[in-house]
Amino acid sequence: MARLCRGLTKVCTQHHTLLGAPESLDRYVFLLTALEQGYGGLEHRWSSSNICSREDLPRNGETGVSAGYRKLLGLCSHEYFHLWNVTRMKPAAFTPYDLTSEAYTGLLWVFEGITSYYDDLALVRSGVITRESYLELVGQVITRTLRAPGRMRQSVEESSFDAWTKFYKQDTGSPNFIVSYYAKGALIALALDLTIQQETNNEFSLDDVMREC
Ligand SMILES: [Zn+2]
Repeated sequence: MARLCRGLTKVCTQHHTLLGAPESLDRYVFLLTALEQGYGGLEHRWSSSNICSREDLPRNGETGVSAGYRKLLGLCSHEYFHLWNVTRMKPAAFTPYDLTSEAYTGLLWVFEGITSYYDDLALVRSGVITRESYLELVGQVITRTLRAPGRMRQSVEESSFDAWTKFYKQDTGSPNFIVSYYAKGALIALALDLTIQQETNNEFSLDDVMREC
């Protein structure tokens, strides 16, 4: 628990350094359910509900960051970044959020994709993982995206809009006709970040865009 708190403190502090602490933030709760097998998270206004596999938890006496622990830190980093991206900056279709029916937007690739880009980036920026470990994660996202033929058949905007009926109702054939707005959205964010840096001789980056939002 002490190690998890130390790691999460570094990651959350990194997000604050980038975007500034949200107004009236005095407590944030990570609810974590450790199952035999599981993964996922859901953001709330001042908390997030997360699920991990028991083997992803750091062990007593362990010093390095295992692939599972890295995944768990990335998940918590992702949900914490939602404190800004989608909780305080959000699509018009979510304002006010109608909890009685499905809310459609073509912009989930912005909100989930950019969040997916910054979740792992915060791990390396805060020193929780090494640069090599970060590049391995980027490589995995590129591989996952390129391997799914669905990326040639659906745009990230269509995938966002169809999230209720396709992305969250996947079957074995889904990789053939849908694209993940999380993974490809993260790669678009990476490309956007590198393009801004290149076009401005490193004067600006996606960080500046996020601060302006
Ligand atoms: Zn998310």
